[in-house]
Amino acid sequence: MSYTAWIISIGNELLIGKTVNTNAAWLARKFTLLGYDVKRIITIPDSEEDEVEVFRDAIRRGIRVVVSTGGLGPTFDDKTSEYLAEALNRRYVLNDDALRMVVETFKSKGLELTEPRLKQAKMPEGAKPLPNPVGTAPGIWVEEGNTIIIALPGVPAEMMGIFENYVEPKLREIGPKLHFVERSITVKGVPEADLAPIIERGMKMSNRIYIKSHPKGHEIKAPLVEIHVYVSSEDVKSAEGEVNRIINYLMSSVREKGGEVLSA
Ligand code: ATP
Repeated sequence: MSYTAWIISIGNELLIGKTVNTNAAWLARKFTLLGYDVKRIITIPDSEEDEVEVFRDAIRRGIRVVVSTGGLGPTFDDKTSEYLAEALNRRYVLNDDALRMVVETFKSKGLELTEPRLKQAKMPEGAKPLPNPVGTAPGIWVEEGNTIIIALPGVPAEMMGIFENYVEPKLREIGPKLHFVERSITVKGVPEADLAPIIERGMKMSNRIYIKSHPKGHEIKAPLVEIHVYVSSEDVKSAEGEVNRIINYLMSSVREKGGEVLSA
């Protein structure tokens, strides 16, 4: 089994330089951490021809996982789901589970269920909807032959929310057998904004690492931030060694900034 992945970024605003494609970089790092080999990152416009062609090409080549972002919203030009159905030669139908999710989300937000909003529950026949913990459009999980296609919204917070909650655990399960080691430290006295460059440097120390910060206190008055480090490797010893190396780097950088490490 080969663990190949393609990332497809859909959106005209990416091609005119209006939006920086942060989604692709974020997903590429996630896939690499999970042990997948990202073979291509492709940016295409919101167009039937381009979308159908790229999904069909990925299936034809037997790419294991294809993830797309963009074009899942309620507006008339959000057609990824419809074009995906066409690429798969499947019907584009109202999905019962997706409908339940969409109805529930709009009810909880006190919003009216209009026709364009209902459209977000339409998917290729046989697809599974992925709950959206942030926005309204569910993600899509559909399988064809050896290929899994996952369509996510373009809004970064929605894309990340669906990926971390519903996609990452599955990709980990079906992906290469890796050892994941995680460790966290709690830092007092350095605002999250000042930790950002330290974390960015840490992320560059290895391509199988992911660092996330969680603010716990008040950003200015009493900064308290938990920093979580994840590392994956074929070998548990090297994953542990790598985590410790990064934690040591983080602790010394934080202390240089006058911060205090409360727990490690
Ligand atoms: P919606 O229509 O509900 O906004 P969508 O899934 O159709 O969601 P898009 O219209 O493609 O998403 O993009 C919505 C927002 O997300 C835009 O502000 C856009 O700039 C941003 N965005 C889209 N693609 C990316 C990307 N690859 N990286 C970073 N931001 C992106």
